[in-house]
This record gives sequence, C-alpha cells and structure tokens, in this order.
Amino acid sequence: MRVFNFAAGPATLPLAVLEQARDEMTDWQGSGMSVMEVSHRSKAFVAVAQDAENDLRDLMRIPSNYKVLFLQGGATGQFTAIPLNVTTADSTTAYLNTGQWSKKAIVEAKRHCKVEVIADEVASNYSTVPAFESLRVPANAAYLHYTPNETIGGVEFPYIPASGNVPVVADFSSSILSRPIDVSKFGLIYAGAQKNIGPSGLCVVIVRDDLIGRARPGTPPIWDYEAMAKEGSMLNTPPTFGIYMAGLIFKWLKGQGGIEAIGETNRRKATLLYDAIDQSGYYKNPVARDCRSWMNVPFTIPRPELEKTFVAEASNAGLTNLEGHRSVGGMRASIYNAMPIAGVEALVAFMRDFQRRHG
Ligand SMILES: *Cc1c(COP(=O)(O)O)cnc(C)c1O
Repeated sequence: MRVFNFAAGPATLPLAVLEQARDEMTDWQGSGMSVMEVSHRSKAFVAVAQDAENDLRDLMRIPSNYKVLFLQGGATGQFTAIPLNVTTADSTTAYLNTGQWSKKAIVEAKRHCKVEVIADEVASNYSTVPAFESLRVPANAAYLHYTPNETIGGVEFPYIPASGNVPVVADFSSSILSRPIDVSKFGLIYAGAQKNIGPSGLCVVIVRDDLIGRARPGTPPIWDYEAMAKEGSMLNTPPTFGIYMAGLIFKWLKGQGGIEAIGETNRRKATLLYDAIDQSGYYKNPVARDCRSWMNVPFTIPRPELEKTFVAEASNAGLTNLEGHRSVGGMRASIYNAMPIAGVEALVAFMRDFQRRHG
C-alpha cells in the first residue's frame, strides 16, 4: 500500500513519475535495457540530460548567463566546492546563521576562507530570520551565503537578502521549485535533489558565468565549475538514473502548471497545516509566523512522552515518517511538491482525532 510519506529527505516522489519509471524500467525507449544500463555518452542519454536542463531552465526561468550543473556529493559537497571555486584563502565571505544547515555550511567554509557571520539567530533559538533591513554585507565579501529554507528548524526566508554587488549564494536544497524565485538575484543556487527534485545522488548547481573559472589551483576537477561546465557535467560518469528521474519530475511539474501553480498549491497545503496547529490549542509550531516554512513543518504536543504514540499511530494510519529531527525531537511534517493536498488533509484529520483521544 502506498503511504503518505512525510520524510524530510529522501522524500516522497510523485506517484505518476514512479509509475512511469517502473513501466520503463526494463525496456527504456525500446532500447531493450533500463536507462541505468545506457551509456552516459549515448545520444539517447545526452538528450535526457539536455531535456532535463532545458525543462529546469523553463520552470525557473534561468537566464542564459547561468550554467546548470548536475553534480554529485550532495549539498554538503557544495559547502566545500563553493569556497574552492570563488574564494582565495584570504577572501572574506559573509554567512547568515539561521539554523543547522547554515551552521554546517559555515563550519566547512571556515576551513577554506575567512567567514563573517553577519547575522546569527541563536537568541531566538533559530525560530526566525534576521530583519531584511538589519543585514550589513561587507562590500569586500566574495559572496553572501544563506539557507532560504532551514529543513530542520522549519524556518524560511520571506525575502531575498540585498547585498549590493556581492553575489548571493543560496542552499535551496529543501525549497527549490517550491515557489517562484527570481534567479537573476543570485550568484549561485544549489540543491541536493532528494527533497524536491528526485532521488538522492544528484546535486543541482545554477551558477552565474562570472563565478565560473576562478577555482583555486588544485581544486579537484569534479568540483571545479569550469571543468564541469565545459563537459556538460559529464567530465566523469554522472548519476544517470538521478538525472533521468529529475527530468521526469521537471516534466511532471510542467504538467502541474509550473512553479506558479505548484507554489499556490504549496501555500494552500502549508496554510491548512499551520491553521490546524494554531487553532488546536494543543499542537504548537515554534517558528515566527512570517518565516514559517512551506516545506517543513515542525510541531510539538504538550506531553512529549506521547510523541512516540503519535508517530506510531500516524504510521499505522498510513502517515509515515512524522518524527522530528533527532536533534530537536517533536514531530515534523515535510510537505514537498510531491505531497498531495490529500496527504495534508489526512494528516490534519489524524491530528484532530489524536487530540480528541489524548488531548
Ligand atoms: C538535506 C539538506 C542538506 C544536505 O544535503 P546532502 O545532499 O545530504 O548533502 C543541506 N542543506 C539543506 C538545506 C538540506 O535540506
């Protein structure tokens, strides 16, 4: 039985895409083999990768002075690749710390360049983002890095930071394609695939041309944006199955009406869930209202000793993976693009019933 899977990542994928992949599994496009068994250099596969790139460009309206790279090593790999590609050891960079993923990016960057953390939301226990007007980005910074959606804390920026001429670099792992964004406001966007793009093993990097070709001597070629861009992300064997699946998902997104339509659905899903939490007098979400994530919704109940019961009963009802991140406890519902409204409605109904029985 197919469940509603609220996992934070790897996360639920659209059923229609899984069914198509199943149908094509053993005989892809009449080749007599699966897409995983086809050469990445073959005409047929190169077309898959090109289609995936073109569809992503359409969906996000990516300007022509940006390259789209399909890399490996996840978003975590980019925590290192970004400083190696666009800084020297003497460079200053600016980082915003809004939670656990920002923090990991900062720790890694510090090994490679100077890091100024120009905002740190520790005082709010990472339940909000810095005020737009409060940010002072040093003019000499090589870039400003931030995490538009903190997957663990459930905190999402309602704005894009203004940074003058300093390029904005953003870890969009858990919110890429979830609502329209103006790509031209960014120097570099990166995202591990396993939340909103496809299976794990693929990392998408969208990088402006002026940030390419500056890698430090000794940067491994597979981490060097210029070397990868020159080879169409096929300097070595790319994650072919991941690229194929991402391509199917981009087509699925187009079929849903593109990012505007998906964004509207995501807003409705998030509103439904937050309203249910706020109006319950039982469930609580700790995040400031104007920066609550549309993708990851953490919540608690008054008696933490009932959390295990909640998660187990929900799972029995076909609503799985609702436990909070191991570092924060509580519950968390991740409601990425592939989670249908019906899944959120079922969760809200379960929450009402649980409260009635245990509240
Ligand atoms: C999941 C996640 C990561 C880690 O991605 P990997 O692909 O596992 O390296 C980094 N940043 C954010 C915001 C995430 O949600």
